[in-house]
Amino acid sequence: MTGIKVAIINNQEEKSMLVTKRLTELLAQSDNTIDQENPELVISVGGDGTLLSAFHLFSHRLAEVRFLGVHTGHLGFYTDWRDYELEELVDTLCNDRQKSVSYPLLDVRITYTNGKSEKHFLALNESTIKRGNRTMVADISIKEDLFEKFRGDGLSISTPTGSTAYNKSVGGAVLHPSINAFQLAEIASLNNRVFRTLGSPIIVGDHEWVKVKLQASTDYLVTIDQFTIEQEEIDAIYYRIADERIHFASYRHMHFWNRVKDAFIGEI
Ligand code: NAP
Repeated sequence: MTGIKVAIINNQEEKSMLVTKRLTELLAQSDNTIDQENPELVISVGGDGTLLSAFHLFSHRLAEVRFLGVHTGHLGFYTDWRDYELEELVDTLCNDRQKSVSYPLLDVRITYTNGKSEKHFLALNESTIKRGNRTMVADISIKEDLFEKFRGDGLSISTPTGSTAYNKSVGGAVLHPSINAFQLAEIASLNNRVFRTLGSPIIVGDHEWVKVKLQASTDYLVTIDQFTIEQEEIDAIYYRIADERIHFASYRHMHFWNRVKDAFIGEI
């Protein structure tokens, strides 16, 4: 069996640097090669934030690349392997290269009022829209139909794997990643006798899309995972489940709900 091309993306923590050094040595002793440009497998060393960075570095090659996370802090949602399991990890790589599990991504399309061509992004966790220092005003449509007129601090639109991140902090539900859907959660909506929103998160199916038509303003902040983009003259933002998916090398499996319990509840 010939080796595979592996890229390693690590954060700058001392422990992550040591793990990367050891992993590089072990890979050099195996049939596998390091290829930071055109890998078949991307190993992130750090936390979920590091895996997010790795995803964005290789989001243009999702069909060819699988991801795998080694965590050097606490167990993450995208990181399965521990720093003391590197030998086992490289052995597993050498013996089985085919298994993978894939998860949904969020497709984000932004259109502008000033004739600027639209922009397109993929998010692994979520996208949020907020307005600088004033109330955000937007019409939210599901497919062609106006659903509600939103006023508040902003909106979070998350994937199932991102549902345990920012979405959870704003009161969204935790969604099993086998569900091909995305979630719209409000951030501090204004609700009174004049302004009314649903007031609870909604889960939107993979055959639907959400359009957020913003009131003209120049001070919107749009986030795509860890990136914040200051956007001017936005007309609308469209969200749907992407055609692309992220593939993880599935050499081991931890039940999603055990992971949720481990991260947020701990021993009972
Ligand atoms: P960061 O602000 O340095 O870290 C955010 C924290 O969120 C880290 O502890 C990270 O875990 C954790 N995290 C990331 N993805 C997660 C997931 N899918 N499920 C559960 N926890 C997750 O930012 P970052 O490391 O660059 O990550 C960006 C993400 O942070 C954003 O996509 C957003 O979801 C999240 N965030 C959350 C809040 C909030 O909850 N109020 C605020 C800002 C950003 P690790 O320690 O394992 O890296």
